[in-house]
Amino acid sequence: MNFRSILGKSPSVGFRDALFRGIAPDGSLYIPEELPALPFSFLTGVENRTLHEIGFRVTSAFIDEIPPADLQGIVHRAWDFPIPLVKLEDGLYLLELFHGPTLAFKDVGARFMAHALSFFLAQERRRLFIVVATSGDTGSAVAHGFFNVPHITVFILYPSGKISTLQEQQMTTLGHNIYALEVEGTFDDCQQLVKQALADPDLTRAHNLTTANSINLGRLIPQIAYYVWAAARFKLELQQVEVHKDLSERPVIAVPSGNFGNLTAAAYSKSMGNPIGRLVAATNENSVVPDYFRSGLYSPRPSRQTYSNAMDVGNPSNFVRIQALYNYNLHRMKNDISAVSISDDETLAEIRRTYEQAGYVLDPHSAVGVAAARAVRREADRSASAIVTATAHPGKFPDVVAKALNMQIPLPLPLQEALNRPKMSMCIRAEYPAWKEILLQHTS
Ligand SMILES: *Cc1c(COP(=O)(O)O)cnc(C)c1O
Repeated sequence: MNFRSILGKSPSVGFRDALFRGIAPDGSLYIPEELPALPFSFLTGVENRTLHEIGFRVTSAFIDEIPPADLQGIVHRAWDFPIPLVKLEDGLYLLELFHGPTLAFKDVGARFMAHALSFFLAQERRRLFIVVATSGDTGSAVAHGFFNVPHITVFILYPSGKISTLQEQQMTTLGHNIYALEVEGTFDDCQQLVKQALADPDLTRAHNLTTANSINLGRLIPQIAYYVWAAARFKLELQQVEVHKDLSERPVIAVPSGNFGNLTAAAYSKSMGNPIGRLVAATNENSVVPDYFRSGLYSPRPSRQTYSNAMDVGNPSNFVRIQALYNYNLHRMKNDISAVSISDDETLAEIRRTYEQAGYVLDPHSAVGVAAARAVRREADRSASAIVTATAHPGKFPDVVAKALNMQIPLPLPLQEALNRPKMSMCIRAEYPAWKEILLQHTS
């Protein structure tokens, strides 16, 4: 399987090159040349497959440059925690994607990418240096995903004093091959330092330097498996619990969205034959996509801060992949996808409602998804079941949950442990020469 650049001004490449480059030389994103179909023989009986079987089936449909036995190993290391489907109420389910080490859905993608890179590096006897700028959550997923992975060293740049203590502890306390650099500046300064390093011939000539952001196919492809797994679990639920229901029902899938990677994965799975119904793009007040669906005008703008801050994106980088999938045809896109924007007040109200009705504590991101799913079911598919991807553990957002429910929820164990470990970070000014010196010391 090859991957082509969306602009089409760079040649198509295999998985390895797409993985190492991240972005095509013409500056656009890589997309699959075609989406492989999941065979009928696999989809019948999919409800009896394990998460690893589904993960392998999906990733091997795209990746032919890693031998099956090695790909199996990568799949096993990426998914070493459960992904339960939880029933909230009749017709409304949550797919809990937050049981990984950083308690958010990005863990699987980050780990899959790390181990896939490591596989190729071992073959080529090279070491890779990864530089990332983070405003919080990506940093911890990358730190944990790449921690102790052979042949890779990671530098994470974050703005000093501008992220939460919890986020900081999650990425500064691992050590080993993970270096945290505390930059006296803003997130934009961090991003600038990363860009300068990636464009500096002194560094790139001699060393193998790249970044690990959410547009990388190494993160996107494994996420497709979430939605095959969701449909499989749903089918099992219909068979075992909802015995009176139509066994061929296709559930609506609602995805809390920021950069739209997760929604792209859901849409890809559907095009591959995964039996799911309408997709719901659930955003917070950063409503570029819902506005586009309403007006036909796509106008990215600076992001605004909300309670669901991992979705505060004003220019969603993966949305162009969805446009390409639907041939840039808004009408076709709207036939498959609904887009709903949920305000901060509605987010708090949803956390309250779900707690009162089901005794379940939602995190603010998942609450945006649940509120959007309810809105779509009210308007269109009243009888259809819906699955909402729950993207984070509520314990990561104690302040918002306290605001909604007036109660403190206990900090989950992995976060307590992170708070108790000593912080190891290196303070630097937001000036390129000092940063370059650090990189040169490590890479030479
Ligand atoms: C990153 C993130 C999202 C948004 O996912 P995209 O793939 O960028 O749309 C939603 N919720 C949480 C908790 C996240 O960390």
